[in-house]
Amino acid sequence: MTESSTIEDWLHSCIRCGNCKYVFKEYEPSCPSGDFFHFESFFASGRLWIAHGIQKGELKWDDSLIEPIFACTTCGSCEKQCLSPHREHIVDVIEELRYLAVKEFGPLPAHQKFAEYIESNHNAYGADHHARELVDLHSLPKKASVVYFIGCTSNYREKEIRDATISVLKKAEVDFTIVDEYCCGSPLLRTGQIEPVTDLADHNRFAIEAVGASTVVTSCAGCYRTLSKDYNKQGLNLCIDVIHISQFIRDLVDEGRLQFKDSVDITTITYHDPCHLGRHMNEYEAPREIMNALPVQLTEMDQNRENTWCCGGGGGCRSAYPEWSLETAKKRITHAKVTNSDTLVSTCPFCKRALNDANDDSIEVIDLCELVDRLT
Ligand code: SF4
Ligand code: SF4
Repeated sequence: MTESSTIEDWLHSCIRCGNCKYVFKEYEPSCPSGDFFHFESFFASGRLWIAHGIQKGELKWDDSLIEPIFACTTCGSCEKQCLSPHREHIVDVIEELRYLAVKEFGPLPAHQKFAEYIESNHNAYGADHHARELVDLHSLPKKASVVYFIGCTSNYREKEIRDATISVLKKAEVDFTIVDEYCCGSPLLRTGQIEPVTDLADHNRFAIEAVGASTVVTSCAGCYRTLSKDYNKQGLNLCIDVIHISQFIRDLVDEGRLQFKDSVDITTITYHDPCHLGRHMNEYEAPREIMNALPVQLTEMDQNRENTWCCGGGGGCRSAYPEWSLETAKKRITHAKVTNSDTLVSTCPFCKRALNDANDDSIEVIDLCELVDRLT
């Protein structure tokens, strides 16, 4: 865990201002956890004090710490609202607290299932593992310059995203293939179960290198963060370019490799920034550049980019705290409806899944890849 003296420095730079609780200068709630549980230890400021107390030995581990430590979507909104020097470390501290809590109590039952499923079936849902079938089904080559890393949620739950992504890459005549991928490890990293990730990363690195690719494209914001940031943090450098599909498609559009239809069934859209693409990886504009190039009207929600309200699905919260996760997603659906758009677009399968849980069918929720596929 981070050095005690470092955490102490960060804590002293926390001036208890409460900025992490609201969108800066607008006073709209920004922390879905604190907004729901209504107690200091469910905001970033409280969680930093818990970390400090644990580090100093002034706070003993007991069951009352579990919910404040795990009922956080790791959305990163607190990091963007806070103005103090420690701001960029808040989510890291929360994830380190989870690692220590797992060592103390073991994983939460809902999170333990991820680890069991990944060990037995190589994906977080326990679905039958497949890889070669897709290569054959789509007549993909054995060697290619680009690997499409599908991710568990697109591959086994939100399959329309996988199929739309493959379709778009084919329309643009990209030299790509699919590998025998294992879960990237994101569900484990976010829930304090770090140890198995080294083996997952090694498998994925070997599978990607084996096809001779120089670029990996992900259609999942969580995979994107994990492959490009977390693997490096753990000394598991992939030594290969990792690109989110929104960045890849933006470049395809710029190069004129995708032709848009004149007549479309979608006309008005709004966009939800996935936390793992926006706040975690600072990519806000590539999806907007694509949508602005399409024959549709994009209307922003009030809370967008850094100030986006989380979908409620991340950090293991959809499985461990479903009621709160759902309430968080419902609030985002409400934001989307205010724009009077027909369609809510995101670019992460987890966002689509969480937002659709809360949707009453008065707005269509789709992924950016599906939007592009329909309009090309
Ligand atoms: S974490 Fe940052 S924003 Fe929150 S109370 Fe501390 S200094 Fe203020
Ligand atoms: S990461 Fe999100 S849910 Fe967690 S404390 Fe920060 S703002 Fe709240």
